[in-house]
Amino acid sequence: MIDTLTEAFVFLQGWLLEHVVQPPLLALGMGSHLEMAFDGIQFFLAGVLQIGFAYLLLRPLEAWRPVEVWPDRRAVRVDVLYSLLDRLGIVPLAVFALLAPLFAFIDGWLRLHDIIPPQLEDLIPALDTRPLLAFLVYLLLLDFAEYWRHRLSHILRWWWALHAIHHSQRRMTLWTDSRNHLLEDLIGGFWFASIALLIGVPPGQFIGLLLVVKTVENLAHVNARLSFGRLGERLLVSPRYHRWHHALHLPPGRQYRHGCNFAVLLPVWDQLFGTQYRGQELPPCGLAGGPLPPEAERSGFWRQQWEGLQAFAAALWPRSSAAVGHREDSHAR
Ligand SMILES: [Zn+2]
Ligand SMILES: [Zn+2]
Repeated sequence: MIDTLTEAFVFLQGWLLEHVVQPPLLALGMGSHLEMAFDGIQFFLAGVLQIGFAYLLLRPLEAWRPVEVWPDRRAVRVDVLYSLLDRLGIVPLAVFALLAPLFAFIDGWLRLHDIIPPQLEDLIPALDTRPLLAFLVYLLLLDFAEYWRHRLSHILRWWWALHAIHHSQRRMTLWTDSRNHLLEDLIGGFWFASIALLIGVPPGQFIGLLLVVKTVENLAHVNARLSFGRLGERLLVSPRYHRWHHALHLPPGRQYRHGCNFAVLLPVWDQLFGTQYRGQELPPCGLAGGPLPPEAERSGFWRQQWEGLQAFAAALWPRSSAAVGHREDSHAR
């Protein structure tokens, strides 16, 4: 079954390259970029599969057992746009196009100096013959890095200015996962790919790891009454768990600036680093105050991008952007 799917995937990848991507590239005299284009198509196809799978699985859940029912879903549409840009390739392709030459340069430099980055398989030889176990270990390490990326995006003022867009949505749905400033997507892509390179994730496992992370992230944002059970809620980030991360008002007794429940896959990181809150209710979501103007929750895509950049500049150069800087992020979460 997996073999058939892989074959179909590779066939489609080749077909798209040959019939859709190659002709314009050759016409433009960019034949040297064919290999990169082939990899880009892989990201595109994986994104189509991932978002299609998440939609078919999660949208019925939202319709069946919604946490909140809204008179209209207009505010949700911008998140759908974010998701399509993110998963159907525009954002990942841009990230990929910007990062691929950088990583190729680093790779070339390391080879030139005879430095071979250590592979996890060298440290734990048992992983060499157990690809599934290796996949799980890579997932664990990447998730640990994702926890810290997310936590830093709340702690650092300039990063929070961008990340606040993700939190400004009051109508959280499965699509909200992709509601991120493009600059934050670029930073996040760089972070994920660098860590993967650093721990030696084989190229064949990279997309698979990305798919698992993205699917759990869609699930964590779903507008549905879902319980993973007492044990399940401790093992995997559930919609209830992540909802507290997006809560409009801080959980009782948690009056500190940087919030709770930063984990992406495994709640254990929050438990270890003292940032966990396991409330049973399903709180309303959104941002009360923060670096963005109050209307940001209803803004369109380009306006959000612009407002995020303004807040970002105000956080980096407070004096030169005093007009925007007065919006103190005392409610930052
Ligand atoms: Zn956050
Ligand atoms: Zn979120």
